[in-house]
Amino acid sequence: MHRTIGRVSLVLSLAVAAGVVAAAPAAAAAPVKKLLVVGMDGLNWDSVVAADAPNLDALAAQGLLGRSLVQCPGVADSSSGPGWSNIATGMWPDRHGVTNNSFTGKQYGTYPDFLTRLERANPAYATYSAVDWAALHNQGTFSSAIDVRVTYDGDANGYAAQDEKITADAVSRLAAGGPDASFVYLGNTDAVAHSLGTNAAYRSAIAKQDQQFGRILAAVRARPTYAQEDWLIMVTTDHGHRVPLGGHGGCGVDERGTFLLAAGAGITAGARPIDVRQVDLAASALEHFGVAATLDGRTVRIRSTDPFDALALRTRVDETGIPSTLAGWTPAAPAGWSVDRSRMPSGGVTEWRGWSFATDEFWSRTQSSQERENALRTRGVFAVADSDEFADKSGGSSYDSTLVSPQYTVTPGTSVRLNYVTHYRQEGAQKADVLVSFNGGADQLVKRYSADARATVESLPVAVPAGATTMTVKFRYYDASNNWYWVIDDLRVA
Ligand SMILES: [Zn+2]
Repeated sequence: MHRTIGRVSLVLSLAVAAGVVAAAPAAAAAPVKKLLVVGMDGLNWDSVVAADAPNLDALAAQGLLGRSLVQCPGVADSSSGPGWSNIATGMWPDRHGVTNNSFTGKQYGTYPDFLTRLERANPAYATYSAVDWAALHNQGTFSSAIDVRVTYDGDANGYAAQDEKITADAVSRLAAGGPDASFVYLGNTDAVAHSLGTNAAYRSAIAKQDQQFGRILAAVRARPTYAQEDWLIMVTTDHGHRVPLGGHGGCGVDERGTFLLAAGAGITAGARPIDVRQVDLAASALEHFGVAATLDGRTVRIRSTDPFDALALRTRVDETGIPSTLAGWTPAAPAGWSVDRSRMPSGGVTEWRGWSFATDEFWSRTQSSQERENALRTRGVFAVADSDEFADKSGGSSYDSTLVSPQYTVTPGTSVRLNYVTHYRQEGAQKADVLVSFNGGADQLVKRYSADARATVESLPVAVPAGATTMTVKFRYYDASNNWYWVIDDLRVA
């Protein structure tokens, strides 16, 4: 007997027959969306792990932790002005315009912070920001459209004392009623690392800041209305610090290090995705409230479907200067993809003999300050053809390799788009061709790069000829000899 289905059908047909309008069961009121973002300045996650920081540890266990690296000169300093602007606006510095702590060139009118975007979407949202790096309010990183802005001056009065005032203010406002969306900034970790480095004093400052975060979190969880609320709680940092002496601004991995912690409904406990980036905080905040925005960031609730990000990675072979334990590259393409190395010489640096797949950390450690660090719109693992690094060992003089996609099914007579992220630097005679082949036929040139294309999102239209049912995409990097490089990520044919 089809018990449930049969009974439901019977009830419905009786109701219809009797002309009864069935009352829907009383729906529980949708939980009220709430957001807390705590920003901690200059915080190395490795130091959080080493410190006594039970509240941050617990949030990392309950939620998602995404570690990544920020930009550096060439594009913008690995410093607070650009970092907090990335976080607030969800855009990279080539859009929001802040390249250092002078804030010259800021484009906050075009790219406002996420609290301001919430206010514009619905002025009824109660928004709140509390900072003791006063520039974040004075420069408009968090704008005057925010309902309540509380500003203390850590530079003048000391961050340890001002962080206490920030914490007390946040606790009192969040204990009941209060804002729907909050940004609370604590700055002492950065001040301590600048003056004392990243050792014991820094870990003590982290422990103190963790207690302050714990007090804010306890106030949220003790709210009389907490059970009817849907909280997204995120913690992030603007940049890291050099280990162990402290300081930042340049292209080192430790100073570029950042993290995004996020916990709330729909976020998998203990998730450690490799595709999260600093700009994702604003996108996650806005998605929580259902506010649409076109940003570089995307919500942490959506995971990468890029097959590069699922590759098993290896440690270094010929490269030097990369820690021997860092697994960050592979020559092995994902299923359906291939790399043509038939025109590559037999010498050269093994890791870069033809197209490889690598992480930001592994690839940018090969050689600092040649803008490998600034492939900003890539995520996780990307494909890279690097004739410059290949030439660092004898026999690596000439480079010609093609990355070949899977076969995509296409409809004859239509148009498709090649959507991908690229980061390209031109030098000498090197060529970088995007080609397509229909039903295994001759390669057709879609685009040739002949000038730099930094951190670029492409969407190239391609006409599908009559009779074509499959299409393969190829990326051929050639006529290169100790020139620069080409990066491809997240190819989607639509
Ligand atoms: Zn700093």
